Amino acid sequence: MSSSFFDEGALVAVMTTQPLDRALDYKAPEGGCHLGAFVEVPLGPRKVLGVVWGPGAGDYDYAKVRSVMRVLDVAPMRTEMRDFLRKAAAYTLTPMPAMLRLATRAPGLGDPPSMQKIYRRGTGEPDRMTDARTRVLEFLAEYGDLSFTLKELAELSGVTSSVIKGLVKHGAVAEEDSPRDLPFPPLDPSRPSKELTPDQAKAADHVASAVAAGTYGTTLLRGVTGSGKTEVYLEAVAACLRAGRQALVLLPEIALTAEFLTRVEVRFGARPAEWHSGATMTERRRIWRMVGQGNAQLVIGARSALFLPYQNLGLIVVDEEHDTSYKQEEGVLYNARDMAVLRASLLGAQVVLSSATPSLESWANAKSGKYTRLDLESRFGPAVMPTMKALDMRGEKLPSDRWVSDTLKAEVDKRLEAGEQAMLFLNRRGFAPITLCRACGHQVGCDQCDARMVEHRFLKRLMCHQCGETKPMPTTCPSCEAEDRMAPVGPGVERLGEEAVMLFPDARVAVLSSDMYGSARALKAEIENIAAGGADVVIGTQLVAKGHNFPNLTLVGVIDADLGLQGSDLRAAERTFQLMRQVAGRAGRAEKPGTALLQTFQPEHPVIRAILAGDEEGFWRAEAAEREAAGVPPYGRMAGIILSGPDVAAVFDAANALARNTAPLTRIGAQVFGPAPAPIARVRGRHRVRLLVKAGKGVALQNAIAQWIKPLRLKGDLRLAVDIDPQNFY
Ligand code: ADP
Ligand code: ZN
Repeated sequence: MSSSFFDEGALVAVMTTQPLDRALDYKAPEGGCHLGAFVEVPLGPRKVLGVVWGPGAGDYDYAKVRSVMRVLDVAPMRTEMRDFLRKAAAYTLTPMPAMLRLATRAPGLGDPPSMQKIYRRGTGEPDRMTDARTRVLEFLAEYGDLSFTLKELAELSGVTSSVIKGLVKHGAVAEEDSPRDLPFPPLDPSRPSKELTPDQAKAADHVASAVAAGTYGTTLLRGVTGSGKTEVYLEAVAACLRAGRQALVLLPEIALTAEFLTRVEVRFGARPAEWHSGATMTERRRIWRMVGQGNAQLVIGARSALFLPYQNLGLIVVDEEHDTSYKQEEGVLYNARDMAVLRASLLGAQVVLSSATPSLESWANAKSGKYTRLDLESRFGPAVMPTMKALDMRGEKLPSDRWVSDTLKAEVDKRLEAGEQAMLFLNRRGFAPITLCRACGHQVGCDQCDARMVEHRFLKRLMCHQCGETKPMPTTCPSCEAEDRMAPVGPGVERLGEEAVMLFPDARVAVLSSDMYGSARALKAEIENIAAGGADVVIGTQLVAKGHNFPNLTLVGVIDADLGLQGSDLRAAERTFQLMRQVAGRAGRAEKPGTALLQTFQPEHPVIRAILAGDEEGFWRAEAAEREAAGVPPYGRMAGIILSGPDVAAVFDAANALARNTAPLTRIGAQVFGPAPAPIARVRGRHRVRLLVKAGKGVALQNAIAQWIKPLRLKGDLRLAVDIDPQNFY
C-alpha cells in the first residue's frame, strides 16, 4: 500500500502542467503534503503548478532535489481523478501534462479565496432616520440574520449605496469581509416533478433506481424531440441528489440556454452551477473550488465540465449525445461522451446518453447489451412528429441565383398568412461559398490554406473557414486582372436571407448564423427572441437544430438536403440523417402540427428515403450492416495521424518514415493507409499529411500506435497529432 501522506523532506513525484514526459522528484515541504495535493514547484527559474502524483523515483542525487514551494489551499486531487486522467491520456495518446492542464482550467487556483464585503444588521442606531434609512433597516429586520452585498442590499431595499454607507458609519449596518467563493445554494430533489406519462415514468424509474444503486451503468435514452427526455433525466438527477452525490449534465455549448437553466431551477428550487466558455474567471474559480468541496451539487456545462474535480460524482448526463461538438478537435483530441463513460466506470456512477438521433456507436453499444436502452415513443402532449416530404428539384425551374422553389415559397406564404413561423435551413455560413472571376474562371482561395474563401457580406469580407483569415472582396481578378468580373456562386445563409426578403417582402426575416453575433450570449439572446415570436421567417445553419423550442414554428424547408451526402466522410449518411431529423423536429412542437419539406435532387437516395419514411431502426440497421462489412467504426477501430509543418517535403519524409516501419501495427493486424495529403492539405501555412490506421475491434490499438510513433524524431517545426476514433477526416 502506498502512503497517502508525505512528511517533510520525503521524495514526492510531481506531475506538472509543463510539457515534460514524466513526473519530477521534489522534497515534500515543511508540514508535509498529501498525495494528490496541488503544489507550486520550482522548474528552472520559474515556479509552476503541479500535482503530487506519488512517491518520488529517487533516481537523482537527494542533495540536489529541490523542495515543493507551496501547497495550494484547495482539496487534493482524488485518486479517482488521477486514474481518470491517466486512462484518458492513455486512450487518447495525450501526454499527461496536457491532460492535467484540462483538469486545472481554473484561474487563480493558487490565490487565497478573495474576499468581498457583505452587509447585515448591526447593533448601533442611526442619529436620525430618513425614509431611505427606514427602508433598509426594515428590510434587514425582515431577513433576520442574512447578509447581502452592497449592490444587492441597495437594490432590494430601493436605496442608493451611499445610504447604506451612511448606516455603516453609525453601526446600524455591519460591514464584514466574507470569502467570495460562496457555496452554491442547496438544491431540493423532493420538490414535485411534472406529472410524468406512463412511458416517461417507466424510464425515469429505471434511471433513478440505477443511480440509487450506486454502481456503474450507461443508459441510452432515445426519444423524439419533445418526448420528455429532459423530464426523465431530471428525475435521475433528483435520485442522485437524494443519494447525496453530485450530478453533471453535459450539453452542447449552444444548447445551454437561460430557458434550460430556468427549467432546472423550477425543478430543484435553486440555480445549479453553470460551466461554459462565457463564464467569467471568478465564476470558473468558484465552480472549480465548490465542486471540489462538494458545495455544488449539480453542474450544467459544456464538454470541459467533465474535467472538474468532483468530490462525489454519481451521475453524468450527456444530452444530445450524438452532437459532434462533444469531440474536441484542437489540443487534446477527446470525445466528451466517451470520456464520460470512462469516468463514470471508474467512479461507480451512472451515465445517461440522451438523444433523438443517437450516434451509431451508442446504438450499437445498446444493441450489444453494453448499454441499457430506453425509448420514449411519442411527443409529449398534442404535438406530433412533423409530416416529411421531398421536393424533387429536378422538376423545378429555378434561375441559378435562386434556391427557394415555387412549391416551398407557396408553403411559406401559407404559414405567414396563418401568423405562424417558417424556417429555411441551409448548413452553410456566409453569403456565397465561391467567389469566381467570370472572365477567367479563377476562384479566390486562402493564401494560407487549401480552401476557398467564403464571402461574408455581413462582415464585408472574404473569409477562410479553416483558419479564419479574412481579406477584402477584390474588384479586379487576382489572376487575370479583369475589372468588375468577380461574382458570387452558390448560396450561404446570408444570400438565402436576401432571397427571402425579396420573396416575402412583408415578413420579418432573421438570419441565424454563429459568425453574425459577437458572442455566444448574444446569439442565444437572438434565438430566444425569435422563439418568442420576434421573426416570421428564420434562416439558419445547423445551430438552429440544437435543442431550441420554437413553439410557433410549423414549417421547415431544407434548402439542400443533399449537401451532407457528398464527400467521403464515413459518417456522411449518419450525419445527414441526424441533422435532417433534428431540423424537422423543430417544427410543430406546440399545438400546431408541423411539416418539413426537403429540397433534393436525389429523392430516391436511400438516406433521403429513410429520412422521409421515418424508419429510424431500418436506417440504423442498414448503416450498421454497411459499416460492419467495411470493418469501420463502430465495428472496427480507426485512428488518424496528422503530420504537419511548413515544409511539404519534410512533412512527407517523416510520414514516409512512419509508413516504412509499421511492424508494431501489423503485429495487431492493423492496416495503414497513406501517407496522403490530408483532405485540407494546408492550414495556416502548414502542410498536412495524413496516415489512417484501421484495426479490428478488440485490439490494443493505442499501445501499438505509441510503439509505432515512438522512434520518430520530429525535427524543427514538425508536429504530429494522433486522433483516436476520428470524427472528422480533414
Ligand atoms: P426532450 O428533452 O425529449 O426534447 P422535453 O423534456 O424538453 O423533451 O419535453 C418537451 C416539452 O414538453 C417541455 O416543455 C416539457 O416541459 C414538456 N413536458 C414533457 N413531459 C411532460 C409532462 N409529463 N408533463 C408536463 N410537461 C411535459
Ligand atoms: Zn485559411
